[in-house]
Amino acid sequence: MPDSYSAVLTIDISAILANYRLLAAQIAPAICGAAVKADCYGLGATIIAPHLHRAGCQHFFVATVDEGLALRPFLSGASIYVMNGLPTGAEQDVAHNNLIPVLNSVTEIERWLALGQNIGTKRAGLQFDTGLNRLGLSFKDILYLQANEHLPKRLDLALIMSHLACADHPQHPQNDVQLRRFHEILRLLPLSPKPAKQQPLHSLAASSAIFLGSDYHFDLARPGAALYGIKPFSEMRNPLQQAVRLQAKILQLREVDLNMTVGYGASHQFQAPSVLATIGVGYADGIFRTLGNRGTVFVAGKRAPIVGRISMDLMTIDVGHLPRESVTLGMNVDIIGAEQSLDAIAHDAGTIGYEILTNLGPRLQRRYVGAQA
Ligand SMILES: *Cc1c(COP(=O)(O)O)cnc(C)c1O
Repeated sequence: MPDSYSAVLTIDISAILANYRLLAAQIAPAICGAAVKADCYGLGATIIAPHLHRAGCQHFFVATVDEGLALRPFLSGASIYVMNGLPTGAEQDVAHNNLIPVLNSVTEIERWLALGQNIGTKRAGLQFDTGLNRLGLSFKDILYLQANEHLPKRLDLALIMSHLACADHPQHPQNDVQLRRFHEILRLLPLSPKPAKQQPLHSLAASSAIFLGSDYHFDLARPGAALYGIKPFSEMRNPLQQAVRLQAKILQLREVDLNMTVGYGASHQFQAPSVLATIGVGYADGIFRTLGNRGTVFVAGKRAPIVGRISMDLMTIDVGHLPRESVTLGMNVDIIGAEQSLDAIAHDAGTIGYEILTNLGPRLQRRYVGAQA
């Protein structure tokens, strides 16, 4: 292994593919797509998405047009939906690259249809807001679309979707409220009559909702987090495989005496002599600063607390309690891995696995293992 790196992120493609298959089996007979936005949550979309495509995934969800354009050459034949809508000025790029814009307002519908007059594509998705109040056509817009039914009818509609606010809390009453609103929208939306095979796919479920039961499945799911190993609900054994391992090197070992402090702000003081290991990873690599004096890492399988503040490129751990011969200069410690899940470190950092993943920095050496192309 080359020695130039300070920290290494190992991404297990076969774990991601196993997660895809598990989700696909869970949602069958509905179809399983994949959310590959934000560079597959920081893990490398141009590498991972083609593996998912080869494993049978035909429906890919990105947030932005730029993400769609970047992935288009890697996913020939697959549907790529741009969930954040149709930015003014991007219409030509979207059309010429066969991206499917998820239209979120009446104006976007009108703009897409106007372009379609000239270049011939009217293929689109529609997103309805059913209670998240974030993005999508509102319930009021349904009335407008009923009064102007030429608008939805002229679209070549590939997808009708909505997104849940509380799917990670299976008991939350809002899940059922949004489910009923989605059914209502599907009932009220005027569509041109078409054979069943050309009807738009209905999609409500992201990762967590796949585990809410078949009422939430409709035709197509769009999981992201679960593919990458994040637990669907906090109160459950994780059925998914951990897909990432984050390790960083011990750059220096130093003895500290009683009452010495460590790091910026001298925020940790030693109550007894101990041994510190300085690790080559910091907040610029996505180690949350909130983990200072709170999180732990694993050294040869043994827990060691993070002491002092996390700095940009370094953090310090207390290894005084570990057998001296088990802690050596240059060895890797485990930050995310078999001993500490993404969800566990996210909990200690006061955030969620999603934010941990998408913050993993560009300086980490990324290694892909499993299912080699
Ligand atoms: C991010 C996102 C998804 C994927 O969500 P996960 O919880 O990661 O599965 C699906 N749909 C929409 C609208 C999203 O924003």
